[in-house]
Amino acid sequence: MSQDNKKTHLTLKIFIGMIAGIVIGAFLQMSFDDSGDRVFNIFGMAFSTYGFFVDGIFTIGGTIFINSLKMLVVPLVFVSLVCGVSSLSDPSKLGRLGGKSVGLYVMTTCIAVTFALIMALLIKPGEGFIIETTAEFSANQAPSLAQVIIDMFPSNPINAMAEGNMLQIIVFAVLFGIAMAKCGEVGLKVQKAFEMVNDVIMKIVLIIMELAPYGVFFLMAKLAATTDLAAFGSILSYFLLVFFLLIAHALIVYPTLLVVLARLNPLRLLVKMKDTAIFAFSSSSSSATLPITLSTAQRKLGVDRSVASFTIPLGATINMDGTAIMQGVATVFIAQVYGVDLSTTDLLMVVLTATLASIGTAGVPGVGLIMLAMVLQQVNLPVEGIALIIGIDRLLDMTRTVVNVTGDCTVATIVAKSEGVLDIDTYNADPFSDEMKAASAFDDPTAKSDSSA
Ligand code: ASP
Repeated sequence: MSQDNKKTHLTLKIFIGMIAGIVIGAFLQMSFDDSGDRVFNIFGMAFSTYGFFVDGIFTIGGTIFINSLKMLVVPLVFVSLVCGVSSLSDPSKLGRLGGKSVGLYVMTTCIAVTFALIMALLIKPGEGFIIETTAEFSANQAPSLAQVIIDMFPSNPINAMAEGNMLQIIVFAVLFGIAMAKCGEVGLKVQKAFEMVNDVIMKIVLIIMELAPYGVFFLMAKLAATTDLAAFGSILSYFLLVFFLLIAHALIVYPTLLVVLARLNPLRLLVKMKDTAIFAFSSSSSSATLPITLSTAQRKLGVDRSVASFTIPLGATINMDGTAIMQGVATVFIAQVYGVDLSTTDLLMVVLTATLASIGTAGVPGVGLIMLAMVLQQVNLPVEGIALIIGIDRLLDMTRTVVNVTGDCTVATIVAKSEGVLDIDTYNADPFSDEMKAASAFDDPTAKSDSSA
């Protein structure tokens, strides 16, 4: 079998793993009896379906897979950002890069939450809703803005890495890369070593990707076996509105920005995001998807490493447009359910706090909902309202994570184009060509020379 065929097969296998997981998980869910479980006998031993499959095999397999991806995030971001920064011809470019990236991230988030508010006010998903939930939710205190800024600077970089604090790691890596570039001969040697370590880490990504079809299977099977479809009934209009807005943001807002700001064919980006989207969807975590997002940006979209290694990890940390959409709709929904009228000042406050909340949302499952408490508190809405939507949040979380990572790649592409470091041929290459299949996220990174090296 040729190398290209092997790559294609892996993508196909991951897709099959996802569908098989949904089918088997849904089948198990249907086979549960009234107690939510079913006992079966194998060779005289009694097994609980729930315990054996859902809490057992699916949880173990899925968690190990996600942990294996997360394991790579800190070393990959640190090493590739050091390499990226040191390969910049002019370190002062970094300020401009940072400014453009943060500016675009904040702008797309503001657009997202504004549309979400307008649509939710027009469609009124919370009208006529009768509160009958017994679930409870209590809020954590949100950190102050001053604390958020102070927390970006590490007092101990090893601690930052141990905790996976992405902004602190970025700050340290940028400083390290700049210093390395200023060290002349010695710096060049260290840079070479970092390049080699980077290749080794990307090789680990490749090894783990081989296991992706099984990992995705376990994650989806657990999800399908545990999703409570009955919970959708009363809040279907909320669910559908958020879902529709997420899709619209990915298919209308990002493509428009790509055309207007970078004069690029947006279809290329959307099609090339498919592997990354499957991972974001099944993991619900921009952070765990980061190795794949980074690889897609560089190898499929042609974003030079000097931009990708900075903009993508930054985006996985602060850019959560999908999360902001959910927070905008959820705020209006909860206000309508509790019969509270939001004034124009309240709505502006929601735009501001939802943007800040999504910046402060870590790229891990479900955090967007926790940060929603901060938005609700700002406009004096009852935080317990979150309990109304918690039951169906996982599916929306999966979808908004796809939007979040698509936003990261869109902004990285626009910034790279504006800096003149987007490889247009790679970006425009037919996503179904043999060349692109070979540049799949699952390709061997050490087999192809890096354009930015
Ligand atoms: N799961 C989302 C992400 O990782 C964050 C959230 O909205 O909860 O991007």
